[in-house]
Amino acid sequence: MGEQDTTEYLRDGRAPIPKSKIISQVMSANRGKNTNPELSMRKSLRDIGLSGYRLHWKKAPGRPDISYPKKKIAIFVNGCFWHRCPHCRLPLPKSNIKFWQEKFNNNKLRDKQKKRKLETNGWKVFIFWECSINEDAKRCANEVKQYIKKTDSEKTYIHL
Ligand SMILES: [Zn+2]
Repeated sequence: MGEQDTTEYLRDGRAPIPKSKIISQVMSANRGKNTNPELSMRKSLRDIGLSGYRLHWKKAPGRPDISYPKKKIAIFVNGCFWHRCPHCRLPLPKSNIKFWQEKFNNNKLRDKQKKRKLETNGWKVFIFWECSINEDAKRCANEVKQYIKKTDSEKTYIHL
């Protein structure tokens, strides 16, 4: 599938250059794992009738993983390792600690900036962690659906 290729390419571009073979292995293992939650998230969204999303849409601030431009909904699928999931609290790699600490801090900072930029531009932002998606992707997708239902009914009300 074409969309999967794009995702991998973008992830590669964002990743730091591996400093050792071991780190490189950790990173690629993680990268492989990372695409799965994105795929199951998209599948769950399609399953409940929310197809028509864009992937890494350039015109949205921060190029969200998944977005619905007309509804101004942005969805980020965060890998627990890269984005330092507060639920999992995965251990840091044992070597090059400083490098990783900095890398993770940058990731977290960038996540925050993206969210803020989207929100100031009127977007609704959803952040789903890899672990929650693995646990129940459908529940995550339904959160988005609930939001759409709610905003749609509000719109209808205003137009009456
Ligand atoms: Zn997690």
